Parts: sequence; C-alpha cells; structure tokens
Amino acid sequence: MNTNGMVIIGAGEAGTRAALELRELGWKGAITLIGDEKRSPYERPPLSKSYLTSQEAREPATIVNVDTLRERGIQFLTGDAAVRIDRDRHEVELASGSRISYERLLLATGARPRQLQTGGSGDGRLLYLRRIEDAAAIREKLVPGNCIAVIGGGFIGLETAAAAIERGCRVTLIEAAPRILIRGVPEAVAAMVEKRHRAAGVEFRTGVGISTVEVDGEGVAVILADSSRIAADAVIAGIGAVPETSLAESCGLDTDNGIKVDERLGTSDSHIFAAGDCCSFPHPLYDGKRIRLEAWRNAKDQGQHAAGSMLGKTNPYDVVPWFWSDQYEMTLQVSGLADATVSMIERDHGESAKLFFHLDADGRLIAASGMDPGGGISKEIRLAEMLIEKRAKPDPAALANPTVRLKALLRECEVG
Ligand code: FAD
Ligand code: NAP
Repeated sequence: MNTNGMVIIGAGEAGTRAALELRELGWKGAITLIGDEKRSPYERPPLSKSYLTSQEAREPATIVNVDTLRERGIQFLTGDAAVRIDRDRHEVELASGSRISYERLLLATGARPRQLQTGGSGDGRLLYLRRIEDAAAIREKLVPGNCIAVIGGGFIGLETAAAAIERGCRVTLIEAAPRILIRGVPEAVAAMVEKRHRAAGVEFRTGVGISTVEVDGEGVAVILADSSRIAADAVIAGIGAVPETSLAESCGLDTDNGIKVDERLGTSDSHIFAAGDCCSFPHPLYDGKRIRLEAWRNAKDQGQHAAGSMLGKTNPYDVVPWFWSDQYEMTLQVSGLADATVSMIERDHGESAKLFFHLDADGRLIAASGMDPGGGISKEIRLAEMLIEKRAKPDPAALANPTVRLKALLRECEVG
C-alpha cells in the first residue's frame, strides 16, 4: 500500500489546481493526483469552441504538463479511477487494485452529461460533450452541408450550434423551455444571443420536448412531442450536467445537489474536502444560499481554496461567481447571481455591446451581465464584480449612464 499525505480524486480543473496550490502553499509531503482520463490534465472550454472550428484537429490545451507535475513532486496516476473510499482507514481504492492512504482527501470529480430519457441511442449519431473523445466524435460530424440537430439551448447547445454553422452545417436547435438560456442568463441577454444565431441561419424550436431519437437510414431523426420530425446527420444533446457524487454517496458523505460542503469546502467528514462542479456550497455574499456552479473559474478558484483548507486555513470561499461563453464573434459574460433580480438597468456601450445591472429589492447590485463583439465589456464586468463584492447599492441613474465610469462608483463606495 502506498502512503500519501494529500490525495486528490479527479484531475480536471479543480483537482489539478489544488495539487499545484498545495505546493505553492508550502506543503512538503506527498501529493497524489488521481485521474481516470488517459492524458495530461486539459482545459474543457475549447472543446465546444476552437477545438470544433479549427481547420486541423489539435490537442486541447493542457492545464499543466506531466513534466511540471513531476518537477513539483506530484504523483499523477492517470487512467485509473478511484472506486471506493474507506473513511475509517483513510484509504482510497483504485480500479487497478492499488490502495492509497490519505491524511486529507479532495474530491474533484466534476460532472457528467445528463442523458436523454427518451429511449433510442441514435446508434452513434446521438452525441454528448464532456471529454476530448466526445469533442473528437462531434468534430467528425461537422462537415459542410451536414444537418445537425442540437437538443438543449444551454451552453453546450449554443456553442456547438455556432461551431457547426462556422463549419458550414445546417442547424436546428430544440429547447424544451420557452426560451434559450433560461437558467442563469437574463432574458434580455438571451434574446441578443438568439438573434445572433438566427442571423447565422440557426432554426429554433423552443417550448417543445423530445419524444424520441431514432436511427433513420444513414442519419438520425428527432421526433418532437408535437410529432414533428427533424432529420439530421447527427444529434448533439446538451441538456445539462449531473454532479459526479457516486463515490461520495457510497462512503456516506452528505450530498445536496452535489457533494455538500461548508464555507471552507469541507464535507461532512473533517478529513475530506470537495471542489468544482461536483459540490454545492453556501455563498456568503448571497445570505449563505447553497449553490453549485458549473464554471471554469469557479473550479480553478475552488481547487486552490480547497488546498488552503486542507492545510488548515479557515477563511470562507466567497468569490463572486463568473462565467463566459464565446459564440461567433460574441462574448457573453455573467458575474454574480441574478436570481433575486427585482430591477434591471441597461447600459448601452454602442456597437451592439450591452451591459445589464441586476439590483435586488434593497437596491443592492447582485449581478451584471453583458454581451458584445470581441469581449470589450470584460473590464466593465470586472468592475461590476468589485461592486458586487462590496455589496454596493449604486445610483441606478449612474449605472444607466455610460459616461459615468464604474471606477468612479467603486471609489465612491470605498469612501462612503
Ligand atoms: P471536470 O473538469 O469535469 O474534472 C473532473 C475530472 O475528474 C474528470 O477528468 C473526471 O473524468 C475525473 N473523475 C471523476 N470521477 C473520478 C474517479 N472516481 N476517479 C478518477 N477520476 C475521476 N465554463 C466557463 O466558465 N466557460 C466556458 O466557456 C466553458 N466551456 C465549457 C465547455 C465544455 C465542452 C465543457 C464540458 C465545460 C465548459 N465549461 C465552461 C465548464 C468548465 O469547464 C467546468 O466547470 C470545469 O471543467 C469543472 O472542473 P472540475 O474540475 O470541477 O470538473
Ligand atoms: P446547461 O447550460 O445546463 O443547459 C442545458 C439546457 O438543456 C437547458 O436549457 C435545459 O433547459 C435544456 N434541457 C434540459 N433537459 C432537456 C430535455 N429533456 N430536452 C430538451 N432540452 C432540455 O447544460 P449544457 O449546455 O448541457 O452544458 C453542460 C455543462 O457544460 C454545464 O456544466 C455547463 O456549464 C458546461 N459548459 C459551460 C459553458 C460555458 O459556461 N460557456 C460552455 C459549454 C459547456 P432547463 O433549464 O429548462 O432544464
């Protein structure tokens, strides 16, 4: 049996960042990073974007290469899954049969694609996207002239629809809800996104569910709940992600829409922590509301924060949520949580760039969202994020006026 100090299950964004951070924070003992994918830790965001649109298929960007892991003294076990956690003995059992003991354990197991419950596998023409192999299979289908049916108007659906259009495919996007991006993105921003897709030629079928997906000669057909039929060469389903909690559940850890952690990212076992897509946590900025985020920066930041907590730090994780999405030349960004929005203020930045500020019932800025060609609103979103951090209650008229600089509002709030 190997004896290891810090053990991390999952070599994605959260797990890999945690391993590197443990060293940065001065941990001198052993670190073991366990990943069931057979490759160096890699970035997922390009898989639905540049990986699909680039002329030549290329390897995804790595988070860190194996040489660096070795140099930092991090033992990387690749292509081996953790299959059991023995909490009494502080041991992790791997599919290969080996056992690793831990002083502290981090679960960074991510999420997996939600599967359609309609029956019909599509015989290899119904595709999901999470890993590099999935992206490679989708890429093969994106050839000029192919018809692609996309199920789900979330991020996977919209980003792959944009990629398919860029590769010369015809695209129909089906969304069961009345509009796209119904969770987490305000209606005004979603409308801008839909308009851009329509202009590119995407056909939308919203407000209608899926009855089944069936093989149709060389292709595949999606049968909708209203009995209409959409024939395609391939179907890409992006209908959400399910947190990977099976290991945590089987060893009796508490779960609640993911592995349940406290403000430090500690689970119900004081020796085990969790970070990234797999966990739900109480957010101090939003009255302790329990949330689970599925976003790149959160995974990175939580991985690093969890490393500190594993070493005994007690500060809460209170970073403002943020994510981005690239579709065509447009970048969409949302900072904060917009659920409790009572009023929304629009700031026009010209050239189709728009920013929206979300205020709650007390006039507090709780979120900012925006869309623009080329990502030019990034700086504004970053400043808005700082205002959200400070629980600011900015003057709505000032927010609406693009000549009033957000920096000035931030300064006001620091002084007052
Ligand atoms: P993951 O990256 O899923 O990593 C978890 C790892 O753990 C995986 O490698 C998994 O195989 C492994 N694992 C699971 N169980 C075990 C086990 N028992 N033993 C060993 N290993 C195990 N976010 C944005 O903000 N902007 C974007 O533009 C964006 N684009 C995205 C595009 C795609 C296609 C996808 C899939 C996601 C995108 N995201 C984006 C979301 C972001 O990539 C995720 O939030 C982030 O990757 C989560 O990191 P994680 O480490 O929590 O989980
Ligand atoms: P998502 O963003 O949660 O969107 C899923 C969409 O599918 C939702 O609009 C959902 O509607 C809809 N849906 C659910 N069940 C359906 C059904 N049976 N039939 C038709 N539509 C259905 O998830 P995703 O797009 O699949 O993305 C998966 C993961 O990848 C997420 O973790 C996501 O964050 C990540 N990702 C992120 C980005 C980014 O941040 N830019 C890019 C790509 C991927 P309801 O809301 O009504 O259920």
